Amino acid sequence: MTKTGTIHDIGERARAAFLGLAVGDALGAGLEFMTPGEISAKYGTVQEIIGGGWLRLKPGQITDDTEMSLCIARAIDRAGGWSLQGVAEHFAAWLKARPIDVGDTCRRGIRHFMLKGVLEVPYNQWDAGNGACMRMLPVALHTLGNNRLLEKYALEQARITHNHPLSDAACVSMGRLVQLAMMGCSKTRLRREVEALLARHENFRFEPYRGLATAYIVDTMQTVFHFFFKTRGFEQCLVAIVNQGGDADTTGAIAGMLAGAYYGLEEIPKRWLKKLDKRLLTEILALSDRMISLSPLAQGTTRP
Ligand code: MN
Ligand code: MN
Repeated sequence: MTKTGTIHDIGERARAAFLGLAVGDALGAGLEFMTPGEISAKYGTVQEIIGGGWLRLKPGQITDDTEMSLCIARAIDRAGGWSLQGVAEHFAAWLKARPIDVGDTCRRGIRHFMLKGVLEVPYNQWDAGNGACMRMLPVALHTLGNNRLLEKYALEQARITHNHPLSDAACVSMGRLVQLAMMGCSKTRLRREVEALLARHENFRFEPYRGLATAYIVDTMQTVFHFFFKTRGFEQCLVAIVNQGGDADTTGAIAGMLAGAYYGLEEIPKRWLKKLDKRLLTEILALSDRMISLSPLAQGTTRP
């Protein structure tokens, strides 16, 4: 156990991270591909889950960011541990069921698996989108207590669809940040972790913030870092980031998992949680608990 986190606290923060992801996705999805100017002209500042947008969503409806995360969590649940084949099969079943939204790189990677049975796409210079990072949460929960496993599973799940060093680095880094936040670490500590990423990949430097919230993983990470470190609460962080527009559901989802882990369950606005589908909410809580119970931390097999 850490100084600050008992297994109970960690379990609760895991739930908050998963719910934060879903709530951020639902909050941002109606604003996807809009500019900050378009958003403020149409809505002022969006502070509620209103749905709509180019996908014409019902308020509270989630998109691929949450759905692909659920695929990974369900695969781990089903196998009682890590199964990359299981993850890919869940992705394939999800794609066959015609999801409301799916990124081009994700679609291409899943098709590649369906056609060839291969669990890794070849390196591609265009694979630096945020589609692998946005579904990292279940891996972060499931590998809590073992850094080597975090890196291994992060890259394995990512490369089913994305094979690019910047996507890889972002996946591992975001997984680590969420874990540290769940363990009760301070923003100063999280900031140090970000600095370690910047030392290896200068691209992710986010000060001064350039205001780009696109699906390019560099822009996405800069946006998440900027708004997470600049704001002082879950709601404030999420409202600020989705009103930046662009890939708002995905910046919302990633900021939601990090801020959820950091601020905890109590800080997630009840009015947002009420908008989520009841069955989804129940499943998220169960899967969060299951990911943690299967983690090295809970199983007493912790390794640095
Ligand atoms: Mn989405
Ligand atoms: Mn998106």
